[in-house]
Amino acid sequence: PPVLPHTTEDILAADTHLVQSWADLDGLKKPHARTAIVAAKGAMVRDSNGQELIDGIGGLWCVNVGHGRPEIIDAISSQLSTLDFYSTFYTFTHPTAAALAKKLAELAPGKLNRVHFSTSGSDANDGAVRILHHYYERLGKPEKKLVLSRHGAYHGSTYLSIAMTTPAYSKGWSKAEGIVHHLKKPHYWREGDGMTEADFTDLLIADLRHEIERLGPQNIACFIGEPIMGAGGVIVPPKEYHRRVQDVCREYDIKFVADEVVTAFGRLGHFFASEAVFDTQPDMITIAKGVTSGYQPLAATIMTDEIYDVVSGPDGVFTHGMTYAGHPAAAAAGLANIALMEAEQIPERVRVTGKIFENTLRTLQDIEIVGEVRGSHFMMGIEFVKDRHSKALFDAKLNIGMLVARKAQEKGLVARPLGHILILSPPLILSEEQIARIGDILRESITEVM
Ligand code: PLP
Repeated sequence: PPVLPHTTEDILAADTHLVQSWADLDGLKKPHARTAIVAAKGAMVRDSNGQELIDGIGGLWCVNVGHGRPEIIDAISSQLSTLDFYSTFYTFTHPTAAALAKKLAELAPGKLNRVHFSTSGSDANDGAVRILHHYYERLGKPEKKLVLSRHGAYHGSTYLSIAMTTPAYSKGWSKAEGIVHHLKKPHYWREGDGMTEADFTDLLIADLRHEIERLGPQNIACFIGEPIMGAGGVIVPPKEYHRRVQDVCREYDIKFVADEVVTAFGRLGHFFASEAVFDTQPDMITIAKGVTSGYQPLAATIMTDEIYDVVSGPDGVFTHGMTYAGHPAAAAAGLANIALMEAEQIPERVRVTGKIFENTLRTLQDIEIVGEVRGSHFMMGIEFVKDRHSKALFDAKLNIGMLVARKAQEKGLVARPLGHILILSPPLILSEEQIARIGDILRESITEVM
C-alpha cells in the first residue's frame, strides 16, 4: 500500500498541492492554518497532533450515525468483493442500487417514488432543474425554465447550483446567469423587525407572488428551498412559510423542490423533514450527505410518479446522469446506514437528544455578544453581535466566528465558523455528556473572545 505522510509537518507539506474547497486559499498559506484529521470514532475525531476533538460538525453535516461504524464499513467491503462497479446507464442496473431506490421510495413522503442517483448535493440539485426543464418541454411548455430560489440559500457549487445559492456566496465568480431569481430570506429575527411573525410570513408570500407575476408563471419551472437553510446561517423559517409557498406554487403550476441534503436522514428527528416537520409534499426532494452518513458519496433526486411518467413517456431519451451515480459501494453504504438508523431508532432518539442539544445551546443566549441561537435539534447556529439591541455586527475583519471556533478547537471541539455565525451539526449519536461538554466549551470560548 502507498505510504502516507505521518507527521503534521509531512502531511501539511504534501497538502500544499491540495486546493481546499470553500477556503481562504491565501490565508491557508500561513503556518498552522490547516488542521489534518487522521482518525475518527463515534462522535470523536483525532488530529495529526494527537488531539481528540468532539466532531461538532459531523464531518460536514453528514456523519449522522457517527464515525467508524463496522456495519457500514463491512457492507461497503463486502459489496466491493462481489461487484466493484457497474453503472446505471443505458439498459444496466445492479441489485444494490435497485434496493436502495426502493427503500428511498418507501421512506420518502407522498408520491415521491422514483429515484435518480447522483454523487453530490450540487449535481442532485442541477439534475432536479434539468429534469424539470425536460418535463415541461415534453408537456409542450418549453418556456418554463426559470427557477425561484432565496437569498441565504445554499444549493451547491456547480454552475447551476451556485446560481441557485445566495448571490452573497458567488461574488466575483461566474455562474449560470439569467435562470435563477432570488426571493427574500425568511429570517424573522433579522428581517422582521417591528412585525409579527404572521405579518412577516404574509410579506414573504407577497414577495413570492410579486416575483411570479413579474416573471410570468408561464416562464417558471420551479421553486427550490431548504426546509431549514443550512450554510446560509441556519435559518428556520416562520411556521406556515413552506406550506404556503407550496400552495402558491401549485396555484401557478410551478414545481416545489425541497433540498433536503442536510435536513433528511435524522438531523431533525425524521428520515425526511418536508412532510413530518413542515407539512409539505414536494414534487421533488434532493438528498445527499446523511443518506450514507458520508461514508460514500451518494446523492439523489427523488421525483413523483407524475414527473417520472412524463419524462419516461414514448419518443424521448433521458439524457442525464453521471458514471458513478448509484455506485455499488455507495448504494451499499446507503442501505447499511438506513438499516442501522432503523435498528437503533436514530430519528426517534434525535427527537429527544436533539432537543437536549438545542436547549443546551439556547442557554448561551444570555452571553452579551450572542444575538440569536437558532435552529432545530442537531442543526444549530449561533449569531454573534456587537450590540444586542441594534443587532449591529462586529467588523467583518475581526472574523468573530473564526475566533470562537479557534478557541473551541483548542478546548477539544470542532465547530464551523461562517463570518459572524458559528454552526453546529454534530453526529446524531452524541451522548448527553458530550452535549453538556459542547455547551461548556462554547460558553468558555465565547466568553474568552469577548
Ligand atoms: N444543498 C444543501 C442544503 C447543502 O447544504 C449542500 C452542501 O453543504 C449542498 C446542497 C451541496 O452538496 P454537495 O457539497 O454534496 O455538492
